Amino acid sequence: MTIKKIAVVGSGFAGLATAWHLSKDYEVTLITSPHQKHSASTVSAGLLHPYVGPKAVNNWRGEEGVQSTLHLLNIASDALGKKVYNDDGFLRIAASSKQENFFRECADRNSDVRWLSVEECQKMVPGLVKNPGVFIESGVTVYPNLYIQGLKLALKNRGVLFRNDIIDSAKNIEGYDKTILCVGAGVFHLKGLPDLKLLPVKGQILQIPWPDNLPPLPYSLNSKVYMVMSIDQKSCFVGSTFERNFENERVDLNTACSYILPKLYALYPPLEGIQPTDCKTGIRVTAPGHLPLIQQIAPKTWIFTGLGSKGLLYHSLLSANMSLS
Ligand SMILES: Cc1cc2nc3c(=O)[nH]c(=O)nc-3n(C[C@H](O)[C@H](O)[C@H](O)COP(=O)(O)OP(=O)(O)OC[C@H]3O[C@@H](n4cnc5c(N)ncnc54)[C@H](O)[C@@H]3O)c2cc1C
Repeated sequence: MTIKKIAVVGSGFAGLATAWHLSKDYEVTLITSPHQKHSASTVSAGLLHPYVGPKAVNNWRGEEGVQSTLHLLNIASDALGKKVYNDDGFLRIAASSKQENFFRECADRNSDVRWLSVEECQKMVPGLVKNPGVFIESGVTVYPNLYIQGLKLALKNRGVLFRNDIIDSAKNIEGYDKTILCVGAGVFHLKGLPDLKLLPVKGQILQIPWPDNLPPLPYSLNSKVYMVMSIDQKSCFVGSTFERNFENERVDLNTACSYILPKLYALYPPLEGIQPTDCKTGIRVTAPGHLPLIQQIAPKTWIFTGLGSKGLLYHSLLSANMSLS
């Protein structure tokens, strides 16, 4: 059967990238929920690098993933006329002596990773906890909502159709030759989905007002928590929780503050005592093996999910290589 018309459901990182790559060859309609309430992409901290995880090992196809995402980031930036990311690099600060060893090995293995002594870290970010770390020169901080806005514009410019709808079951949508479900944690609400052994992990992120008497952080930081300055540099996003047992998908400020704030004060003592002005939450989806999942689940229906904490690393690479035959 000749494939002509494709429905992509979901406008998080996965859905937007899938719509972009497939729209080169097919007529694509992007079906988006009028509420972004299940979208993890909109609350993502935006960290992109190929050494995700406490051991900082080289992630599977990590460098390719970064390059593929950079390609889409530039498409979104061109469409908006504004850069949707910064590529100044970022600092990972060792949280234990065991992690120090992993970071040293990462720096030995990779030319874009530089080992930093305590003094060098302090020089880069005065006031920081007195621990060593690594500087990831290729590290990128994405502004997720700008990226999403830019990519939507690029899709519209390319002729992709947009439709507002909420899909309730995992079957092909009438009128399309194929349907690709990129619904993130929406999978847990779909009827008729086979058991894919997917698990939800709730993530909450705090927004902290940045004090006038402190210089903005020159780089994003990542340790037991990460710190990312807002574009206007007036606040900082700090996260995140990794909640495997949670009651509901709503913001739970007590849990977020008790997990994040002590780690924030330890990492960057000048902020001791500061309280958040906002808290956002999203649900990550993890698949078996902690790798993303692209699977055909019915004759005309595919699912792309399981991006876990590596959505930015893998959404473009994997959707660019999706085979629907
Ligand atoms: C707090 C937090 C911080 C994070 N930080 C990072 C980070 O720094 N770097 C990184 O790489 N990753 C990070 N992640 C992970 C990353 O956000 C996810 O991997 C990624 O967003 C998943 O993208 P997705 O498109 O699969 O899902 P989502 O972004 O959840 O998108 C799903 C889409 O489907 C739509 N939808 C859902 N159900 C339906 C339905 N029934 N009908 C129609 N539409 C539907 C939603 O509205 C949404 O548009 C973070 C996650 C969280 C929660």
